[in-house]
Amino acid sequence: MSETILSIENLRIHFKTFAGEVQAIRGVNLTLQKGETLALVGESGSGKSVTAKSVMQLLSNNAMVKEGSILFKGENLLEKSEHEMQSVRGKEIAIIFQDPMTSLNPTMKIGRQIAEVIIKHEKASKEEAYKRAEELLELVGIPNPKERMKQYPHQFSGGQRQRIGIARALVMQPDFVIADEPISALDVSIQAQVINMLEDLQRERGLTYLFIAHDLSMVKHISDRIGVMYLGKIVELTDADELYSNPKHPYT
Ligand code: ADP
Ligand code: MG
Repeated sequence: MSETILSIENLRIHFKTFAGEVQAIRGVNLTLQKGETLALVGESGSGKSVTAKSVMQLLSNNAMVKEGSILFKGENLLEKSEHEMQSVRGKEIAIIFQDPMTSLNPTMKIGRQIAEVIIKHEKASKEEAYKRAEELLELVGIPNPKERMKQYPHQFSGGQRQRIGIARALVMQPDFVIADEPISALDVSIQAQVINMLEDLQRERGLTYLFIAHDLSMVKHISDRIGVMYLGKIVELTDADELYSNPKHPYT
């Protein structure tokens, strides 16, 4: 039996701007089953990040949810308070951004950045938290993690920083991960490595992914289904194989 992890129904989001209201999301529907990867692709401004942020309730103050629901394991996230969302974020749903420099603190050693998340959410000892941080860094392929934990984000390459960002996102063992263009900022040679790592993690931990990218080539291998976004709507949603062999929408 498959279990529905996420179900977005008829979501409409506008933004208040100086120039009036912008219709960013114009009726988005999607569902995600446990263990599956749904990719959202589409040109810049089509509404991918707004969709991702709406799930995490991380939209800016000028956002207005006009209609719809976002059911996570059956509960409507749009009805949760900020306090309730704090125990969903990171613990149940993690988000990975394009640039890990925005999620990592540049002035804090990376071992501490990961250990602190563990200490904040659980009553783990400092020793135990650092031990787990080390294991996580090992898991995402940072060589010599014990030593490297003592370094700062700028002392790592872009690919390694994204791995660290992913390690930090997975600290609390969420089973649903939203990745908003996680490889777009990386060199092409590194992109495949990070994708492979995300796939390995998915197999090992039974993760469900909402994977956002701006073009199809990046999601070819990782996705089970692909939704193409255009002007705030999903204009095509099909099995990954189907979309490549038989695209229906002109944008695709
Ligand atoms: P992308 O698909 O590139 O991730 P976004 O989801 O970021 O696109 O943006 C979708 C639309 O919503 C765009 O037209 C964008 O200008 C608008 N938008 C996003 N965030 C804001 C905001 N904070 N204020 C006003 N408009 C916004
Ligand atoms: Mg975006």
